Amino acid sequence: DEITVGELASRLKQTASNVIKKLMGLGVMASVSEVVDYDTAALVAEEFGAKVEHEVHVTIEERLFEDVADDPGVLEERPPVVVVMGHVDHGKTSILDAIRKTRVTAGEAGGITQAIGAYQVEAGGKAITFLDTPGHEAFTSMRARGADLTDIAVLVVAADDGIMPQTIESINHAKAAGTTIIVAINKMDKPQANPEQVKEQLTKYELVPEEWGGDTICVPVSALTGQGIPDLLENINLLAEVKELRANPNRRAKGAVVEARLDKGQGPVATILVQNGTLKKGDCIIAGTAVGRVRVMRNDKGEPIETAGPSTPVEITGLTEVPAAGDLFEAVADERLARELADQRAAKQKEEQWGSYQKVTLDNLFSQIEEGERKELPIVVKADVQGSAEAVKQSLEKISNDEVRVKVIHAGVGGISKSDVMLAAASGAIIIGFNVRPDPVAKAEAAQAEVELRMYRVIYDAINDVTDAMKGMLAPKI
Ligand code: GDP
Repeated sequence: DEITVGELASRLKQTASNVIKKLMGLGVMASVSEVVDYDTAALVAEEFGAKVEHEVHVTIEERLFEDVADDPGVLEERPPVVVVMGHVDHGKTSILDAIRKTRVTAGEAGGITQAIGAYQVEAGGKAITFLDTPGHEAFTSMRARGADLTDIAVLVVAADDGIMPQTIESINHAKAAGTTIIVAINKMDKPQANPEQVKEQLTKYELVPEEWGGDTICVPVSALTGQGIPDLLENINLLAEVKELRANPNRRAKGAVVEARLDKGQGPVATILVQNGTLKKGDCIIAGTAVGRVRVMRNDKGEPIETAGPSTPVEITGLTEVPAAGDLFEAVADERLARELADQRAAKQKEEQWGSYQKVTLDNLFSQIEEGERKELPIVVKADVQGSAEAVKQSLEKISNDEVRVKVIHAGVGGISKSDVMLAAASGAIIIGFNVRPDPVAKAEAAQAEVELRMYRVIYDAINDVTDAMKGMLAPKI
């Protein structure tokens, strides 16, 4: 909130020398090109009988996004968005499969073919949307990016195993997100199944079964035989009704990216979930730093569609780059402004990522740690698919110990490019490629900038090398 004397004069329709005189009267010595603060400007203006108001800064976001609250009258019921969580091997994947199979009996033309990372089923004439990435890590990494997608979490607990560490983690993640939990007590076909014990254990985590006077719905199921699956779906619908899930289909779409990848022929392909509004083919959308017009839109059966309303998962092409899972997207009217915002975001990201570090390789990492020169190992990860990029990133960051923190400054999809090398060079990072290769330009650039490129096919090998390097035990290169 400051203004040059010249600008102040022109706004007051006064000569600069008049303004300078007034300023001198106030004890402020300023030339035409110098700036004065808001309070001083206000005093001068007052002397000329004018009023000064704070300038209202309108951000690109404010100009670009339709930020109107929906009138309750225009809201319509929308399907619940459901995620499946629980301990490993308790049957999350099997339950998602079993639910998907109900589409066949529902007479769906597409049968069980599924093209994208989310699908819808119908139960009792109502749709339910399932996110097809089981587990709380995906759920939480999406939330960390700002995407709160899910309304209901199905907590899968094996009836023969009971509550295990990841069951507890799942409960905590769901609770932190304010997501309602419905419990599927799975593997009921097994002779050792003991649902009563599961319920007993649940009460320790403030999940008191309905039949015991609480408000947690527990449904005994078997993903193997299909027993209880329709009951589970029915109960999800009941819960959804209680939650009164509503959206306005008659506005521009907004939502979040569920997953994304780079396709050789189609370019960036993203599975997105529309949370509010309706997305139409041809709409311009912005998702993180990616912009573009929706070129092809497909539903969960891979069929091309023209529009997608609230809670509908679709796969789209047409974006300029691969967005990250959990990036929020929004359809906008002004494509030029959207590109400007994307550039702004990209520049900001770069600024945050660029720092000056000393050059590092896995070979000299240990000596740098020992000499106290290094507290952080920055890494750029490039992988063939978004899922691997995310997995490599998470595994690498977990290696951090008390002395040195492994920090993935960028994890992206696609071959290693010159810009990756530049980022690594500027940050003193090494580059880990997972099932990808550097292009020739990137390779030359890396040699010149002395950026270490390491290619892997197996996550385990990458983790091992970085772990060994941190301990000074990396086997010498042959
Ligand atoms: P996830 O790790 O939670 O996704 O678990 P999976 O769906 O991969 O299942 C783990 C194992 O349990 C697999 O061998 C499944 O065949 C088995 N399984 C899953 N559901 C059932 C069930 O209802 N009954 C029985 N008997 N086995 C099941």
